[in-house]
Amino acid sequence: MPRRRPGAVRAARRLEERRLPQWARDFPPIDRLSLETSAAIRVAEHSDHDLHSAHGDQSYHVRPGGTAGFLRSYRAFLRRRGPRLKLIASECPSCPGCQYDDVAVVRDALQDVVRDLPPRARAELKQLLTVLDAEFRRRTIPDPDPAHWADWSGSPYPWWHRRVYEGTAT
Ligand SMILES: [Zn+2]
Repeated sequence: MPRRRPGAVRAARRLEERRLPQWARDFPPIDRLSLETSAAIRVAEHSDHDLHSAHGDQSYHVRPGGTAGFLRSYRAFLRRRGPRLKLIASECPSCPGCQYDDVAVVRDALQDVVRDLPPRARAELKQLLTVLDAEFRRRTIPDPDPAHWADWSGSPYPWWHRRVYEGTAT
């Protein structure tokens, strides 16, 4: 396999960084992410916002300032006490604000952000989520009821939805 020249790798990296506009860099970093990745997230949040009218719900959850809040919500859920955590369903799941009371929807939103990022920023956010996801897996309980694993059309929910919710008999 041909070795990638270090010069070419550096040039590609500089190009990815240069495409990030200055306004996106003029903010403190998001969560524990680098300035570069935080800036790339801001660009994605804003460009998706502009595309919403044209592309329907393609990146439904991605909007300006959203990612920082989603990461805060995810961490807040994991900070709750007790060896085992149960998910809490939103009382009005179709409401744009209240849907995020359900941490599984917060995790959906973070997945949308991952999908919208350029490669290097995507890798860094995925790495951060891997750590949080491991904790989430460890402290929540797999939902034993297969009826909850897929929607009415049979497409399976992501694994973070297939966990036990408060108020369900398990
Ligand atoms: Zn509501």
